[in-house]
Amino acid sequence: GELLSVREVGKTYTGAKGQQVTALADVDLDVAEGEVVALIGPSGCGKSTLLRMIAGLDGAFDGELTWTKPPRPGKDIGFVFQEPALLPWRSVERNVSLGLEALRDNSSEARQRVRDLLELVGLADFAQCFPKELSGGMRQRAAIARALAYDPRILLMDEPFGALDAITRDRLHDDLLRIWEATRKTIILVTHSVEEATYLADRVAVMSARPGRIKAVHHVPLDRD
Ligand code: ADP
Ligand code: ADP
Repeated sequence: GELLSVREVGKTYTGAKGQQVTALADVDLDVAEGEVVALIGPSGCGKSTLLRMIAGLDGAFDGELTWTKPPRPGKDIGFVFQEPALLPWRSVERNVSLGLEALRDNSSEARQRVRDLLELVGLADFAQCFPKELSGGMRQRAAIARALAYDPRILLMDEPFGALDAITRDRLHDDLLRIWEATRKTIILVTHSVEEATYLADRVAVMSARPGRIKAVHHVPLDRD
């Protein structure tokens, strides 16, 4: 079923010199439960802005975002950024459980979920390691596990593989498909790469800049079942 509908969403920022910058204009997008949607387009076309609006991180905007079930604050939206931003003084396991601690969720289910997620992202043997002991790809896998720890309804990923070398990136693509198989999470993925978008997504929304718009939404003929 339907998860989220974006209708005529627009966003204007006031720039440093007081000028108005229209980051997004008239954006329409429907997102169904369990699908992977890629947002692709040139730098500055508003991809990150759109993700932040959906995450509720960016204050007022024009238009409407309608969820079929309103997201539970702090729980239903997982975010993965280009930089994994793990806390260096915490082990991998304690990074992944960070959000659950913030929610004061110390249930045995929550702790089991953290272990299951570490297994899922291939870090079970590295649970007690610290971020600096991990490769870039492993750190990003830890960030994905952390974002999934609340069991969010949607996973928003902002160029999650953009800082990785090509071989690691290819491996992470397959890891993400495997994670999707296991969780069937709805994912919105921002990327610069057509190849990445078509490999990972069910649908690809192509954006253009000045102002940021969705030009077209393509279905990817890709059968993962
Ligand atoms: P993309 O992710 O596609 O590169 P962004 O969403 O980061 O694009 O940015 C879209 C436009 O909005 C750009 O012109 C950018 O400079 C502008 N913008 C983004 N965030 C802000 C902000 N906080 N203040 C002012 N302008 C912003
Ligand atoms: P704990 O292991 O005690 O739960 P947290 O990771 O929750 O520690 O950190 C508590 C606060 O202490 C954090 O918000 C952070 O600002 C600060 N902190 C802890 N360790 C460090 C560190 N090595 N460097 C910088 N800040 C730290």
